[in-house]
Amino acid sequence: MNLVKRKTNLKTTVNKSIERHPVPILGIDYKVKIIYKNIKITELDVENTTIKISLPNIYKKIDNKEILDLAINKMYEQIAKVEIERAMEKTRIMVGFAPEEYEIKKMKTLGSCKNNKICIHPEIVKYNRKVIDYVVLHQYCHLKHKNHNKAFFTMLEKYLPDYKKSEEILLNL
Ligand SMILES: [Zn+2]
Repeated sequence: MNLVKRKTNLKTTVNKSIERHPVPILGIDYKVKIIYKNIKITELDVENTTIKISLPNIYKKIDNKEILDLAINKMYEQIAKVEIERAMEKTRIMVGFAPEEYEIKKMKTLGSCKNNKICIHPEIVKYNRKVIDYVVLHQYCHLKHKNHNKAFFTMLEKYLPDYKKSEEILLNL
């Protein structure tokens, strides 16, 4: 999975690599490896179970936590574009209707549904696809049922009989 890939002929100098907390993508924890290179722009690659972030040498001496957070957030947004589109399309075909529009945006909750519009938080891609599909279906059910009433849960269960498993994953984290 190459998210940002640039070919460069510049000399690579691996001066030090810092270990960070694992970063989850689609329910799998990835290690983060930081490399300093003679480059101008931050690069990010995902290989096997490692996220490799290459930073320009000029960042070597400064606290780079903010830059790394930015790179990881950008990565989540790129994955979210693909994953949420996939889940929206899958759900649309399954239920036979669609929202007027949807948006990927940061908010207090992972998903929302207002005025026929569905919003999904980009960081939903930290979780596995079953959870992503659940959050999207949950919002689709809100297109028909505003509140968490019996009809809402009947619809949810019809399309995703084991939806409680996904709810549990979200509650336990
Ligand atoms: Zn709800």
